[in-house]
Amino acid sequence: AHVAGRASWNGVGALRDGHRVKVLGNVGSPADAAAAAAGGAEGVGLFRTEFCFLSASTEPSVDDQREAYAAVLAPFEGKPVVVRTLDAGADKPLAFLSPDPEPNPALGVRGLRVAFDRPDVLERQLQAIALAAADTGAEVSVMAPMVATAAEAAWFVERARAAGVRRAGVMIEVPAAAMVAREVYSVVDFVSLGTNDLAQYLFAADRQVGAVAALNDPWQPALLRLVKLVGDAATAAGKPLGVCGEAAADPLLACVLIGLGATSLSMNHTALAAVGAKLASTSFDLCQLAARGALGAADPASAKLAARAPH
Ligand code: PEP
Ligand code: MG
Repeated sequence: AHVAGRASWNGVGALRDGHRVKVLGNVGSPADAAAAAAGGAEGVGLFRTEFCFLSASTEPSVDDQREAYAAVLAPFEGKPVVVRTLDAGADKPLAFLSPDPEPNPALGVRGLRVAFDRPDVLERQLQAIALAAADTGAEVSVMAPMVATAAEAAWFVERARAAGVRRAGVMIEVPAAAMVAREVYSVVDFVSLGTNDLAQYLFAADRQVGAVAALNDPWQPALLRLVKLVGDAATAAGKPLGVCGEAAADPLLACVLIGLGATSLSMNHTALAAVGAKLASTSFDLCQLAARGALGAADPASAKLAARAPH
């Protein structure tokens, strides 16, 4: 399917009826960025900045951060890149930001929560991102991970604007944030759904534990119904909704996500061609039908069948 996909994708995220959906790359290094650009990504929907510093024992200086970010932004001059601020903690601990030992790190001080204790670290990172954006000419936005409330989103956006970053948004990957998506949208420029963590927290199923992987299936109707809440809020706000979790890399699920209101999809470079080709073969009407079928299903297998029916 991947080979056929590559042959029939022209590198533009458009459905056959002309409906536009940005097809973007998830990156964490200059090599990822080069692969995403070569694979036809129209930009980057998720730059995981913590991947640049997994082995750093002390906080990298603003200059070092500027250089690391510019190396990733370089292939995307004039193109949109969403830079996520450090998502330290849980599965991605950073030595220079490690919290006191916690019984449940995935439920502890991770992501934006680290910045509440160390706003100075966030401010230096935002400064480095703004400098790297100017160095490369990439159209940079910033977004915060692990946001739980609209007040947290507002706190982040205020700091991003103070640092001179043009556009600021947040990830919705905590179910509480999805439930108040309307209020979140009222303070941000865009939202990106992190379906990996959203599933983990919705199902109380650790994403690193294989024994509960079936619960973390992105086709779970409960997850899709939560995504619909966010999609409806995005449509009402008239603001972009990205998806940057693994769900976006499944071509059929990508159609469902578009039907639920996603306006961009961000994925590993290996998935770009297959998703791009699938989008070119479908229409917004079909995506909405697929979404309606999947939402009404009782389990992941039936959701997949229902999404396939109109396709
Ligand atoms: C997610 O949680 O879906 C996500 C994209 O972020 P990460 O996988 O880096 O936690
Ligand atoms: Mg996440």
